[in-house]
Amino acid sequence: MDYQHVIEQVMSAVQPHIGEGAVADYIPGLAKVDPNQFGCAIASVDGQLYTGGDVDVPFAIESISKAFALALVLSRKDTELWKRVRREPSGMAFNDLIELQLENGIPRNPFINAGAIVVADQLLADTGDAVNALRELLRAETGNPALEVDSVIAESELRTGDRNRAISYLMAGFGNMRNPVELALDHYFRQCSFSITCAELAKAGLLIARHGLRADGSRLLAREDARHITALMTMCGTYDGAGEYAYRIGLPTKSGVGGGLLAVVPDQCAVAAWGPGLDAKGNSAAGGVALETFARAGKFSVF
Ligand code: GLN
Repeated sequence: MDYQHVIEQVMSAVQPHIGEGAVADYIPGLAKVDPNQFGCAIASVDGQLYTGGDVDVPFAIESISKAFALALVLSRKDTELWKRVRREPSGMAFNDLIELQLENGIPRNPFINAGAIVVADQLLADTGDAVNALRELLRAETGNPALEVDSVIAESELRTGDRNRAISYLMAGFGNMRNPVELALDHYFRQCSFSITCAELAKAGLLIARHGLRADGSRLLAREDARHITALMTMCGTYDGAGEYAYRIGLPTKSGVGGGLLAVVPDQCAVAAWGPGLDAKGNSAAGGVALETFARAGKFSVF
């Protein structure tokens, strides 16, 4: 595969779309990010990195962290998790409450906020420090020993996170929280606030592209659990945009409201795109164009 050619096609297709969409303004720290930035990086399973644009500018990982937190819980052969969260697309916004109420506090999947809070809560119960478990994983897989939570973003999420608070207390009311709500939320908000670059995200994504093998060659996840994560990314990774993503791109993809997108081509590569402007579903607008071009140029769609 001529990845260099693929990245060049991505960069030229995306050019007129840079700056499109709206930065997430419900988290004040994200509202300050310059929307006219864009980066794309492909990490291949044979260890090469292909880059274009702002690939070394850190941004908030946000919901892309949910895929790695899930990997950590599944790596512990935790069977309790699937009693607490389902594996169905939601068709609702990532921070929706209505479905959660109707379905007795059991979230549809681990990637909407409710489900991700359950995963963070479970990881906290399992490890005693969910953020640190994630920090260690991300540092090792990105190769950046200084990777850290952006405390300004974390504080901003904590201060404005009432919707997530409502979701969590509703779940607690249904008996679906293991830790005190504010403690679990503190870990969830900080998990979302890790600062990461496109180049680092692509490298970390190889964990999933390699079916659970870590950068040092050891196994974190059973192959089957890595497959479960890609299935969930495909069905739920871009929330109520997942249908359109399957149609346009056809790859397991996880988005974050920081404007990051991570897609994997199992056995071949991981691709990260970052453009802070979001579409109506909360997925990066320019990033979507980038992934669509990437999938077409490399004939990567699984469909
Ligand atoms: N931290 C964000 C929130 O809880 C994550 C949402 C997202 O990236 N889609 O709202």
